[in-house]
Amino acid sequence: MGMMKAWVLDHQAPIEMNPLAKKNLEIPEPAPGEIRVKVVTCGVCRTDIHIAEGDLPLKQASLVLGHEIVGIVDKLGEGTGRFQLGQRVGIAWLHKACGACKFCQSDRENLCPEAMFTGWDVNGGFAQYTTVHEDFAFELIDSLSFEALAPMMCPGIAGYRTYRLTEVKPGETLGLYGYGPTASYVLQVARAQGVKVFVVTRSEKNIKAAREMGADWVGNYSETLPERLDAAIIFPPAGDLVEGVLANLERGGRLVLSPVAMTPITIRDYNHIWMERSIISLANISRKDGKEFLKIAQEKKIKSLYETFGFDDLPEVMVRVKEGKIRGNAVIWID
Ligand SMILES: [Zn+2]
Ligand SMILES: [Zn+2]
Repeated sequence: MGMMKAWVLDHQAPIEMNPLAKKNLEIPEPAPGEIRVKVVTCGVCRTDIHIAEGDLPLKQASLVLGHEIVGIVDKLGEGTGRFQLGQRVGIAWLHKACGACKFCQSDRENLCPEAMFTGWDVNGGFAQYTTVHEDFAFELIDSLSFEALAPMMCPGIAGYRTYRLTEVKPGETLGLYGYGPTASYVLQVARAQGVKVFVVTRSEKNIKAAREMGADWVGNYSETLPERLDAAIIFPPAGDLVEGVLANLERGGRLVLSPVAMTPITIRDYNHIWMERSIISLANISRKDGKEFLKIAQEKKIKSLYETFGFDDLPEVMVRVKEGKIRGNAVIWID
């Protein structure tokens, strides 16, 4: 059996203390129903840092992180038939769902209690090869580059799900609080569908970036919005933003919280949520989100913002991601 190089997490520690080690692992064999993928690019996500640092429990010793995977089908397991060798595929955060529970049976596999996640329950993409059940791989298009596709697998698909959760319609107004790779995908999808987008962000750099990406209005947190919002999304994990955003929502407006964890939320004035305003959080992604987003990404020529790095740069890049020093999404070339 051949060997491959991989970055392995054996113990959890602050990312500055470099808990990752470069190792040689056996190249995995695809189980029945699975395909093996030769990884070409893999994006770095904040979730990778949360797992490495212990904010999320370590579910397997010697874990390979990474769930923004783009590669080439390299080997077909028994009983597969969806892909051909050499075909370009993507692997995202949802690695597998049970298919039998009430959530899976009602188009909500993102809520499946038995769901397994790439680069957490099973090895991910910071290695030369990985495996996935063929039903959970995404068919990818050749018109976008391996680098541009990698961040689409997480911020892209997750951003699309937050957008869907807002239920905003063409002609309505959507507010985005915070501006990074995920928000930039939401902005592009919303604009492509005729939704007016207001972006509220702190840094001058992000104000400029959101303007360039076509936002209808951009300002910082102290500015007054030109009009009330039919829906809003909060991206930073700051619970103290919630009440202020609710105060800007139109009657019946919907606020979607994108972070996995958030500081405490206090709503002191009931008037801010009165008149059927609602708050909903985002959890994971479904295959439907991925399929729909990737189709729009191709048709509307959605742009990714990213910086690329070599395989050996990963530990240092993770520190830079944590410090917010990457322009857009960090993408690692796996060679
Ligand atoms: Zn992610
Ligand atoms: Zn299920």
